[in-house]
Amino acid sequence: MGDLSLFFDDHHEMIREMVREFARAEIAPVAAEYDESEAFPWPNGAKMAELGLFGIPFQEEYGGAGMDLLAAALAVEELARVDASHSIMVGAHTSLAATPIARWGTEDQKRRFLAPLAGGRVLGGFGLTEPGSGSDAAAMRTIAQKKGDRWILNGQKTWITHGGVGEIFVVGAVTSPNKGARGITVFILTKETCDLDIAREIGFGHAQELEPMPGFSVGQKLRKLGWNASDTRELIFEDVEVPEDQVLGEVDRGFPIFLDTLDGGRIGIAAHALGIAQGALDEAVRYTGEREQFGKKLNDFQGVQFMLAEMQLKVHAARMMTYHAARLRMDGKPHKKEASMAKLFASETAMDVTTKAVQLHGGYGYSREYPVERMMRDAKITEIGEGTSEIQKIVISRELLHEHGQG
Ligand SMILES: Cc1cc2nc3c(=O)[nH]c(=O)nc-3n(C[C@H](O)[C@H](O)[C@H](O)COP(=O)(O)OP(=O)(O)OC[C@H]3O[C@@H](n4cnc5c(N)ncnc54)[C@H](O)[C@@H]3O)c2cc1C
Repeated sequence: MGDLSLFFDDHHEMIREMVREFARAEIAPVAAEYDESEAFPWPNGAKMAELGLFGIPFQEEYGGAGMDLLAAALAVEELARVDASHSIMVGAHTSLAATPIARWGTEDQKRRFLAPLAGGRVLGGFGLTEPGSGSDAAAMRTIAQKKGDRWILNGQKTWITHGGVGEIFVVGAVTSPNKGARGITVFILTKETCDLDIAREIGFGHAQELEPMPGFSVGQKLRKLGWNASDTRELIFEDVEVPEDQVLGEVDRGFPIFLDTLDGGRIGIAAHALGIAQGALDEAVRYTGEREQFGKKLNDFQGVQFMLAEMQLKVHAARMMTYHAARLRMDGKPHKKEASMAKLFASETAMDVTTKAVQLHGGYGYSREYPVERMMRDAKITEIGEGTSEIQKIVISRELLHEHGQG
């Protein structure tokens, strides 16, 4: 991987090694099994909570590890290198649910909601996408109407990671209709995990003190091409009463919170995609060093070496872009364009490198016996979630033109 001291402090190396060892010992042996059964990996979730992986960048006074975004990105990368369903558990929870509360929450909200999330007691989720609004998130239909000192929420979200298993959700709703992005507010909602018995048994995934909100329910688990062990569902709101003190930020000023959250989340998805790509490259190097055809190891053929070189080149570039974007955000510097570029490049790299890894495995690559098949399926979502590749190009070109006084 080369010397990364340009980006790393001591704790970055330490967390990378710790998560790498955990993923090798605890996740690699069961990843294919969870992909096949589509069951949520609760036991490993509990172990990750024990290691503090759900609160890496958050302050210790709220149950976090007091580290930073790069440390969180490295953990996500190392998990994804072995299994993307495990990685997205930490990634979505950290960047989409806990981070907006950490950055925009009141002291009271941080104590009540960030602490159980960062302390790894419950899982969190982020509800922006709706059946009729994905890329055009400001066109959401979920509505919140003021009644006395409460907001009444009605509507539906879809494709929500941790929809069933999670207990704390950061959700957007229209509070001033006809004002588009300037009429959206963010709310913090709570419900019970759908796997209450398991959560109680393993001591992870449920917090007694969080009150489930009547009218807040979820749909069936959605079946997918990849991320099969990740829990993805619809969220349904039927006259959900939300107290005023569960508005995150200001009324009608929620859209900038979503945009800021997505800027950070895209660095997380870039790290996740980078991890998948690195994992597929590792597998390709291993396999082509073992398999023989025409009396030689596959990686003795220059055609194979050239493919490996192209894969390594892209993985390295994706790593530089991801760590650079993480450093910019950590240092409070502008990073919107860099986050989008890292996400776009790393996700396309993940798709390309996993496809090449399957190719290098020949027919075995197409079988479920080898992890590259799962990695290729898992890679695709990184080009879609948290803004599709097309949306990243819109963001990048908008920023570019703005820098040149145009657009
Ligand atoms: C497994 C999974 C997990 C997810 N988790 C979450 C979650 O936790 N929370 C959440 O809120 N959402 C989540 N999502 C939703 C995800 O963010 C959306 O699917 C994504 O933003 C795209 O929206 P869409 O599916 O409605 O596609 P659409 O917006 O309908 O896009 C369809 C196609 O049209 C293209 N397109 C759209 N607009 C333009 C344009 N202006 N120019 C060019 N092309 C365009 C898109 O790039 C895409 O190729 C998840 C999705 C999946 C599949």
